[in-house]
Order: sequence, then C-alpha cells, then structure tokens
Amino acid sequence: MQPDIPHETSLPEATSSDDTDPRFFMQMALDEAKKCTPSQTAFSVGAVLVDGTARPHKVLATGFSRELEGNTHAEEVCFTKWKKQSQLPEIGPEYILYTTMEPCSERLSGKKPCVDRIIEFGGVSTVYVGCKEPSTFVAENTATHKLAGEGIRYLLVDGLSSECKSVATNGHSDS
Ligand SMILES: [Zn+2]
Repeated sequence: MQPDIPHETSLPEATSSDDTDPRFFMQMALDEAKKCTPSQTAFSVGAVLVDGTARPHKVLATGFSRELEGNTHAEEVCFTKWKKQSQLPEIGPEYILYTTMEPCSERLSGKKPCVDRIIEFGGVSTVYVGCKEPSTFVAENTATHKLAGEGIRYLLVDGLSSECKSVATNGHSDS
C-alpha cells in the first residue's frame, strides 16, 4: 500500500464538485501570478501543483515567479515547496501542473528550464497552461514538443489567456 500523501492544510481547499475543472485551478494560478514583484527582465507567472487522483482534486503546492530566492520560476517554486513539506511516496500520484504561462524550455540565466524540471519530477500526467510564452526573451519555446515526447498531456486552458499574458508581462515596457 502506498502511504498517504501529506498536504499543506493552509492551502486553499477545493470546495465544489466542479473542482476538477481546469479553469478553477488556472484561476488559482493566476491569483498566484498576481503576487509577483513586477520585473522588466522576467515574466510574472503563477503555478499550482495538484493531486489529480484526489476527488475533488487537491492542491499540493502553489508558487509564483521569484517567490523563493535565486530568480526562481513558479513551477520550480511549486516543486521545491512540495518536496520540502512532504514525504514523497516512492511512486507518485498523478500530478497535474497548472501554470499561467507555458513552462520555459530555455533560460537565459543558464539555470535548468522548467520543462526539464517537470520531466525529472516524475508522475506529472498533465500540464495546463494559461498562455503561450511570448518570444520576448527566447525565440522559440520547445515545451510542447518535449512534453509530448515524454507522454505528458499538454493543454491550454481556454478563456484566461489574455489575462495570463497581461499579468505575465507586468513591469515590461509597453513597446
Ligand atoms: Zn521556467
């Protein structure tokens, strides 16, 4: 038998039977993104890591850009916080990751891209994104290709794209 997955009780709990709805969690990720300190040289992204085997789906960790020290990305923050707070089972549940912007496939800083972190984390079945990565810093994001190659479902959540993009570029010049 697998051990139960501990979870942070202070996190927002899913409250209705609709809480397997991707829009519910993408909205939550968007609320995280709004906590970012605006940056002219980076995107402001929010992410939510969810246990997709629970009904309703259960939030395991939340994160936003630069929340933790070291120029951290939202997805990275989620993984770090979840690893810190939990005793990871040997075989993970079905993780679902929500991120307001397509996970990066290249970082100008040379740090490990989020798409590689997602693959290495293991057990992520689905990645929902709020919007595509604009080509502000990196010309072409290859996350779609990489995740598909690993059998990870990769889906854009309809309806929040423009708001996700607007929050992501908070602090960027208008031009
Ligand atoms: Zn990233």
